[in-house]
Amino acid sequence: MSASSAGDSTMGRLARATRVRALISTLADSTRVPVACASERDRIVRMRVRTLAPVLAVLTIAWIALDAAVLQPVDAVRIGLLRILMAAALVLLSRATWRLSATGTLRAFVWTQALGFGAMEWLLQPAHVAGQVGYGLFPFVIVTQLALFPAPWLQTLRTAVAPAASLLFALHRDGRALSIDDWRDAWLLVLLTGVAAWTGHAQLRLLVELLGARREASEDALTGLANRRTLDARLAAEAARARRHGQPLSLLMLDLDRFKVVNDEYGHAAGDRVLAAAANALADELRSIDLGARFGGEEFVAVLPDTPLGDAMRVAERIRRRIAAMPATVQGRTIPVTVSIGAAELADSEGIAGVLARTDAALYRAKRGGRDRCVAAPPSVRAPADSTP
Ligand code: GH3
Ligand code: MG
Ligand code: MG
Repeated sequence: MSASSAGDSTMGRLARATRVRALISTLADSTRVPVACASERDRIVRMRVRTLAPVLAVLTIAWIALDAAVLQPVDAVRIGLLRILMAAALVLLSRATWRLSATGTLRAFVWTQALGFGAMEWLLQPAHVAGQVGYGLFPFVIVTQLALFPAPWLQTLRTAVAPAASLLFALHRDGRALSIDDWRDAWLLVLLTGVAAWTGHAQLRLLVELLGARREASEDALTGLANRRTLDARLAAEAARARRHGQPLSLLMLDLDRFKVVNDEYGHAAGDRVLAAAANALADELRSIDLGARFGGEEFVAVLPDTPLGDAMRVAERIRRRIAAMPATVQGRTIPVTVSIGAAELADSEGIAGVLARTDAALYRAKRGGRDRCVAAPPSVRAPADSTP
């Protein structure tokens, strides 16, 4: 074999190994809940269990009437008690979803039903009566519910062990060989499990896409800060909350100094990088309850809930110093970046437009005063024309 063909075959083997590794990692990834949607999916799972469990509890109790009509009195009493027990377990679970992990909640929900079904099959004498009263449908009902929960396919398959075990127990409890009808039931359960696993997985992927799209719609693409729409909504909510609880609410408005020069001297791409770095510094200096937003161009707004003007000025000064000390280097040259900041506290009688205008005026004074500084707005004089909420 020539040296080049040996090299080709080694390359081919490496490429195949890489493809196999990629396939394995894709498969492994598809068995986990993506981090991007984990908390939302957990919320959905808990919410669905909280809704479904009481509904099933009511249906379980309502079925007692049918039991009484068709079963022997002894059986009806036993099954009735079991139904009450199952309904109680379901109601308890619906009220305690926050105590368990979302996956644990779902498993407990499914196993409660599967064990209840197994116990009914065990209590009923003879077994074929169960089929007549419709108990035979129980495992199918359980596995169909799994399609309502966003989950990785492997997780759904694992959860489906519960209804599968209960069906197997029901079919095989008297030790007889499986009939054609039994095989049909088993096949139907496998089919429904596959559909549930697929549907749950598809829901999970849709959730990831939906959350991604929602994030894109609420974030500024360049800086990752909140965009104007998010700022407007949050500002309205924070102003309403501040008024209602009598808490202070302050705003900062930031504008990078002489930013046109940065663009002119270093290019627009370098300007973009500086902008993103400044936004990063701003976000880093804010608390988790604050909001940093891109107001437009090279201007930012920070919303500081539960913060009086004095504290807001301290935050502003920290941000100003942080940005001035920021190492913004392009092509080996250090770009000096400074920011001017205006601050204002929402007054009792004031709307959002009013406080924004005062913050802007304070920023203007910071620019007029020589830039690279923070200026606090004087207290608001009531502006009757300001009617924004
Ligand atoms: P000063 O605010 O100190 O008065 O001076 P300035 O040079 O910053 O003034 P002005 O606010 O008028 O200019 C803002 C500049 O910011 C103009 C525009 O080219 C630049 N800019 C706005 N948005 C972007 C952006 O997304 N990327 C980049 N690279 N530049 C931007
Ligand atoms: Mg500007
Ligand atoms: Mg500017």
